[in-house]
Amino acid sequence: MQERIIVAGAGIAGLGAAMALGREGREVLILERDPPPPHQSMEEAFYGWERKGATQLRHSHVFLGRLFSLIRDRHPRLLSLLLENGVREFTLKDGLPEPLRETYRPQKGDQDMSILFSRRTTLELVMRHYAQDLPGVRFLSSAAVRGLIADRKEGTLKIRGLRIEQDANPQEVLADVTIDASGRGTMMPIWLRELGCELHEEESPAGILYFTRHYRLKEGMEEPERGAIPFAGDLGYIKYGIFAADSRHFSLTLAVPEIETELRKVILSGPVFDRIAALIPGAGIWTSAERAEPVSKVYGMGNLVNSWRHYLKGTEPEVLNFFAIGDAAIRTNPLYGRGCSSGFVQAHILSDVLDETADPIARARMHAERVNREIRPHFNSMTKQDSAAIRRAINAKDPNYRPRFRARMIKSLTDDAIGPASRGDLTVFRALMRPFHMLESPDTALRNPEVIARLLWTWMKPKSWKQHLHAPVLGPERAQMHRLLGLAA
Ligand SMILES: Cc1cc2nc3c(=O)[nH]c(=O)nc-3n(C[C@H](O)[C@H](O)[C@H](O)COP(=O)(O)OP(=O)(O)OC[C@H]3O[C@@H](n4cnc5c(N)ncnc54)[C@H](O)[C@@H]3O)c2cc1C
Repeated sequence: MQERIIVAGAGIAGLGAAMALGREGREVLILERDPPPPHQSMEEAFYGWERKGATQLRHSHVFLGRLFSLIRDRHPRLLSLLLENGVREFTLKDGLPEPLRETYRPQKGDQDMSILFSRRTTLELVMRHYAQDLPGVRFLSSAAVRGLIADRKEGTLKIRGLRIEQDANPQEVLADVTIDASGRGTMMPIWLRELGCELHEEESPAGILYFTRHYRLKEGMEEPERGAIPFAGDLGYIKYGIFAADSRHFSLTLAVPEIETELRKVILSGPVFDRIAALIPGAGIWTSAERAEPVSKVYGMGNLVNSWRHYLKGTEPEVLNFFAIGDAAIRTNPLYGRGCSSGFVQAHILSDVLDETADPIARARMHAERVNREIRPHFNSMTKQDSAAIRRAINAKDPNYRPRFRARMIKSLTDDAIGPASRGDLTVFRALMRPFHMLESPDTALRNPEVIARLLWTWMKPKSWKQHLHAPVLGPERAQMHRLLGLAA
């Protein structure tokens, strides 16, 4: 019998589900509340595609190695289409720190550590066109999911489909499997709780606010050369990152700790945003009026959290024939650029599980267990780093703060070992890049004896031997930035 699957949401996770599941013998219907995309033009998609359901769409996005390699290995034709449409592959070699460039020799595994440079609208548009041509896949746009259709038999809740509304027309769509890919604002956990499900949810703050502005290179100008100045960094009171993209576009994101109230108040103004960029050399070299022009307002976004929803109580599923993927299940701080990879991975895990067994209880358990194995180590590492960053931001505002011994040791390890070794030692660089790309658990590197030995060796080296490997000053200190912007300290 042909299995019928419905997916709520055509964001990255919903598109991932369409691609992973779409094949002969299956019917996959994707329901999306927002209007359909424009036909072809990447510019139309960027400047005009109405996407109220994915407000992060016009924020900077980077697409990491895990997503890149899944696309390359499972959807090679999609990768060709992306590249044909201006998306760029940025390889490990392209991103090598200057001191490693001459001695670099490719090694097995390096080919997975490529980043896709693209505006999110471009990536999504190409993915959508690709997915809608797959066998068995159908998209219904401007179709909002309004509720669940469910049965409870002998204490077990089974989802049978969704209540939807298209053009003010209420309808019922029945399915064997229902997938929630409706993103961070999903209503389904609320509806499930109303039906008696006990869903456990973990949540912790990301501690930052996100501000993004897009730019286009002026005619005759090129991107600055990658080299001495880092194009992303952390000044304590502000983090910055340049996101190269397709079609001569790029964006700058400034992430401000929630407690930096003065900065938060003014940063949405275009001229202030550009002034801050100009004061940070690694950002200003891109955004200078000579090289580029802004092509968007400054977008702001808050309420950023790390969260994980559990649909099993212990090993017992709370609901059957229902799966949540992407942000509807797991949200992470955007700063790490992992949400799209995570959503895509979850969609592919689900597809594999549905192929392997038809037993609804086994499906629920296998999906939860595999997602846990693949994503949990990264989630734990991010939440830990976020609480440390929140503490650092609080300390940065306190003129009387004196770090304790442990904090001084961690800073020294970061500044005098990890930092220089990641710029001057290829083994350490690779070991740190694999978890960055979600290709390996974050603690694998720190359990590798060779990496530990190399880090200790760098730590012990006299300062003068590693001077050239230290990061340059990234920008003004907090008090100076406040002074230059005319803000209260
Ligand atoms: C500011 C910011 C920057 C980010 N930067 C990065 C980055 O650099 N790299 C990265 O990998 N990740 C990044 N992320 C995370 C990434 O955007 C998300 O993890 C990813 O979009 C999740 O995909 P999704 O499909 O689960 O949800 P979404 O992409 O949000 O899609 C959900 C879809 O569901 C639809 N929908 C919602 N409700 C309904 C309904 N009732 N009926 C029908 N449809 C509905 C919406 O319209 C939307 O299309 C960032 C996130 C933020 C907030």
